[in-house]
Amino acid sequence: MATTRKLVLAGACLASGLCAVAAFTPSVFDTTVAMQSALTLLDDGQYVAADREAMALAMRSEKSAWRAWMIVAAARRRAGRYASALRAYRLFLASCRSNSLREYVLRQMDSCREAMNPPPRHVPAARRLNDNDLRELAKVSPQISTESTEHFVIRAPNARLAKLLAVEAESALRRIRQNILAVQDYPHSVDVYVWSDHKSYLAHASDAPEWSGGSFTFSTSEGNVTRRIDLTQLDRNGKFATIMLDRILPHELSHLVIREYFGDASCPLFLDEGLAMLAEAQIDNQRVEFAGIAVAGDKKIPLAELIVRDRQTMGDPSVFYAESLSFTRYLRNSVTREQFKAFLGHVKEGSTVSDALRRALYVTGGEDFMEKLAAGWANYALAETQFLRALRETR
Ligand SMILES: [Zn+2]
Repeated sequence: MATTRKLVLAGACLASGLCAVAAFTPSVFDTTVAMQSALTLLDDGQYVAADREAMALAMRSEKSAWRAWMIVAAARRRAGRYASALRAYRLFLASCRSNSLREYVLRQMDSCREAMNPPPRHVPAARRLNDNDLRELAKVSPQISTESTEHFVIRAPNARLAKLLAVEAESALRRIRQNILAVQDYPHSVDVYVWSDHKSYLAHASDAPEWSGGSFTFSTSEGNVTRRIDLTQLDRNGKFATIMLDRILPHELSHLVIREYFGDASCPLFLDEGLAMLAEAQIDNQRVEFAGIAVAGDKKIPLAELIVRDRQTMGDPSVFYAESLSFTRYLRNSVTREQFKAFLGHVKEGSTVSDALRRALYVTGGEDFMEKLAAGWANYALAETQFLRALRETR
């Protein structure tokens, strides 16, 4: 029973912090009946009762105290009581001698602190701009305005746009560093060039695909590194292209940062595009909804294929991009920032996506890990689609 339970928990570990521990400490679950009872309550979502039973055990048995504090902390964290969870984790640290468990708990504590201090919500520029703003931003001056910030030098044929881009670019870089890559420093400067229209953009941006409205360049030559983003100011109707602020700029910036982060290693395409879409100022709900439709239908790209496809083999781009966004978002939302950072680090070092995830989560064994991961993601994608549909119907 204990063995079966351990395997099930290990496979489903993405949703549960405690399960990753279960994968390498089987004895935590079968030490005493009381411990088992507290754990069952935790698994059943009865957090108050699990907290109470495990707390009583921690007070009663010095030998089992560390296990009991772990359950208390998990119950509190899952109930959203992060400050009390941190107190229980500290008591766990005081009574546990296992280095790997201590490391695990330190990461759990990091995720509690993260949850207590969520980054401020970014309101997309398109929602903040009124008609007058849009008219002003559509003006093209013969004079090029330059704005410099800590990480960007912006050049645009509109002084107001250059100022606005300076703020938006720093904000997008913050999102990419904090929420996605967990990279603290970006000690570089990126040149951002804004071209008035599509023709001018194509004439000046190097290797820009004809269909694109923005692109990035990262190259090194004789010790000089070029970090550059090219954008288009006006859409095909001559109106200011708000999409460049909220989607194209953060998307291309994410590609640029990831390209530099991976260096000579290659980032799987689904992850590169998934992270770029996550960096956009607002999640593309059409794509999110389509992902759920795709995974439930005939057109779906199975997870095992999605994670290895490249530009030549991606198949239907609408399915590939929707699934890449959905799966990357599922991964990012299922683990802590530190675990995601570790996952990216392992991929960069050459691990497969599956191995990188197992290593980041400390999951051992479980040959059916990928199948369980695929099933967990499919349920998530379907639930997201149902949620968005329900939301639309209630409007
Ligand atoms: Zn892209």
